[in-house]
Amino acid sequence: MTYQYWDEAVETMPREELCSLQVKRLKEIATAALRTSFYRNRLSDAGIRSADDIKSLDDLRRFPFTTKYDLRDAFPFGFLSVPQEEIIRLHASSGTTGAPTTIYLNAADLDRWSTFVARCIYGTGCTKADVFQNMITYGLFTGGLGFQSGAEKVGMMTIPSGPGNVGRQFRLMRDFGTTIVHATPSFLLHVQSKMEEEGFTRKDIKLKRAFAGAEPYSEDTRKRIEALLQIDVFNSYGISEMNGPGVAFECQCKNGLHIWEDGYIVEIVNPETLEPVPDGELGELVLTCLCRESSPILRYRTRDLTSFYTEPCECGRTHRRLHRFAGRTDDMLIINGVNLFPSQIEEVIMGIPEVGNNYLIVVEKEGLLDRLTVKTEVGPAIFMDDSRPLNALKERIRKKLQALITINPRVELHERGALPVQEGKAKRVQDSRPKNL
Ligand code: ADP
Ligand code: ZN
Repeated sequence: MTYQYWDEAVETMPREELCSLQVKRLKEIATAALRTSFYRNRLSDAGIRSADDIKSLDDLRRFPFTTKYDLRDAFPFGFLSVPQEEIIRLHASSGTTGAPTTIYLNAADLDRWSTFVARCIYGTGCTKADVFQNMITYGLFTGGLGFQSGAEKVGMMTIPSGPGNVGRQFRLMRDFGTTIVHATPSFLLHVQSKMEEEGFTRKDIKLKRAFAGAEPYSEDTRKRIEALLQIDVFNSYGISEMNGPGVAFECQCKNGLHIWEDGYIVEIVNPETLEPVPDGELGELVLTCLCRESSPILRYRTRDLTSFYTEPCECGRTHRRLHRFAGRTDDMLIINGVNLFPSQIEEVIMGIPEVGNNYLIVVEKEGLLDRLTVKTEVGPAIFMDDSRPLNALKERIRKKLQALITINPRVELHERGALPVQEGKAKRVQDSRPKNL
């Protein structure tokens, strides 16, 4: 068994060949989809009754979109294309925006998935000599087991620590010489801010890299984690409907996330018109999973906002790259008529070095108006009992936010460790406004 994970032929495949491979796989996956109760009628209504009706990638545009609501409606088995006894694994989404959705994998699906994750891991420079600590939730959530099997494929010693218990995380890192961790960016920031308190210094651990994903974060947040922990941080994008992690990942160039186009057909559309946006423009990511036959999902509207890089990557991989995600279409806040993404606020505050590692956005109704409050913790250089620098910092944050978002927010500064921390995906927004007004 070789433990390397660089598939040169596929990863640097000329684009034309890659497109032909996609057509071949699309035919296979459409054949599987036609066996599901969910797609059977929908595809034949769209004129796709067999693989022979697919001649080129343009034919994909005839396929209907699939949404999270469809998955929920067809729960539990509407997307299953094989007898249930062939399935060896079930996973579910985190349920961030409603009832969780499930996917099913047979042995071949599982093997393909872990291969994609292994490619991602290897592409950041990791080898079998690395020690990998997976500080993310195991169980139904795909991040735990998904990374576990990918890391095993690379041949790294893997420590399935799961999240939580920061002291234990540091002890594991020290005792076993962890070189790579995987976590949400918010949990990484939390871990870093507890390092001293737990009695550790940077010298006690051998950490080199972190994979950070499962939630949006800004470039400044990446830089902050990199500077504080003295490591390289790579952005990892996954979504359970497309298996989970391993969909798109940064290579060593750290400049956009390569999406594995032998496993996924990528479209970026205008969320209102559903027409493709011009290359390089922001839109909703739509994915067709070519690598899971037992519960196929076609033209899935991820609700995640991103854009394509238009230039090829210096690493030589031909699979296209996506820009860092701006958030989800349904994350958008409308505050007194102004549209705002939480990621815009993060971009401002994480770029201010005196600001600590955690923040919270609170939106409330005050009379007829919406009121935005941005709560941040302060960094170690700021003392809560000295009001002059505190007020100056508050004012600086407020001005920077107002310049960017045109709304005048209230800013509150809190002591380190005062704001809530989640072990999984961070909950950055508390919106207490009455709904449907
Ligand atoms: P849920 O939609 O319930 O959170 P998942 O657990 O499948 O379900 O999480 C997938 C979602 O997590 C993506 O659709 C995206 O919104 C978010 N996500 C995952 N990785 C990233 C990332 N690197 N950057 C931004 N958002 C991400
Ligand atoms: Zn690259």
